[in-house]
Amino acid sequence: MEKDVLLRVRDLKKHFSMGKNERLKAVDGISFDIFKGETFGLVGESGCGKSTAGRTMIGLYDRTDGEVIFNGKDVHSLSEKERFQFHKQMQMIFQDPYASLNPRSTVKEILSEPMDVHGIYRDKKERKERIYQLLEDVGLNRDHANRYPHEFSGGQRQRIGIARALALDPDFIIADEPISALDVSVQAQVVNLLKRLQKEKGLTYLFIAHDLSMVKQISNRIGVMYLGHIVELTASSQLYKKPLHPYTQALLSAIPIPDPDVEDKRERIILKGELPSPMDPPSGCVFRTRCQHAMDICAQKKPVWQEIDQDHFVACHLYNDDLPGNKEKEMLVNIR
Ligand code: SF4
Repeated sequence: MEKDVLLRVRDLKKHFSMGKNERLKAVDGISFDIFKGETFGLVGESGCGKSTAGRTMIGLYDRTDGEVIFNGKDVHSLSEKERFQFHKQMQMIFQDPYASLNPRSTVKEILSEPMDVHGIYRDKKERKERIYQLLEDVGLNRDHANRYPHEFSGGQRQRIGIARALALDPDFIIADEPISALDVSVQAQVVNLLKRLQKEKGLTYLFIAHDLSMVKQISNRIGVMYLGHIVELTASSQLYKKPLHPYTQALLSAIPIPDPDVEDKRERIILKGELPSPMDPPSGCVFRTRCQHAMDICAQKKPVWQEIDQDHFVACHLYNDDLPGNKEKEMLVNIR
């Protein structure tokens, strides 16, 4: 059955001008679809461009090139009226629950703000009921409405951030590292809350994260991002079972395994060096300066984006059958 595409991203680029002739290529040509009702995980190290991608998709940043089509409409070409409506449908949860809430506003005021902007729930009684309902939806209670952000724990503040994102009843939420600033014990609670809300309200998520451990719990499909490019994309289960790209393999090998015997025996892939500057990315494959399988061609030619298994895409010369010696390399990669 054909799945409904809610968000279509095509060759999206976001470059920042950094002076006369310098450009920071934060996002440099990413393409993917997000289907209605799914969670699409976007994963990569800090500085890989994933948050910039999210902010460009919601229109907080203008695009440099490419398209973001939401519900059939180009997000960056909306009329003022359409943009107003679009902001009702697409909302964002931010990484830092401390910084994203106004410390001088009560929870009631924080949740009221988007409703005021959009002129909904104007009736006092209706507004109050809506706020209580939002608090209950995220596992807080009505007594919390008159308190200030500093009176809450980090996990509770993120729940307030989620309630604010839900205030306008959106279809799509971009969650930009929503659990990174939280204690590990609280991370799972917030992920479970997001999953429950998705089920109850039919939400679609873009879930941005910097490692692959927690994103597995929530994502249907995952795109792995490196230096402004998506290097691998597939179903979450497939990515963990059979990672193809050397960068994905390195990210997965960094996740600790709770069984000490397995943990002792397995081989860690340590990435060499730092993430290169997006102002001067490597030629050919952007990962080549840190890749243990790099070949001459990796510096000369950008790897093509190809479907290796059904719905499993990768950009890496190791999977280009035309190159001599690649079959053996592929076997090596798959043994890991
Ligand atoms: Fe490594 Fe080359 Fe593949 Fe890039 S294209 S990931 S450098 S093997």
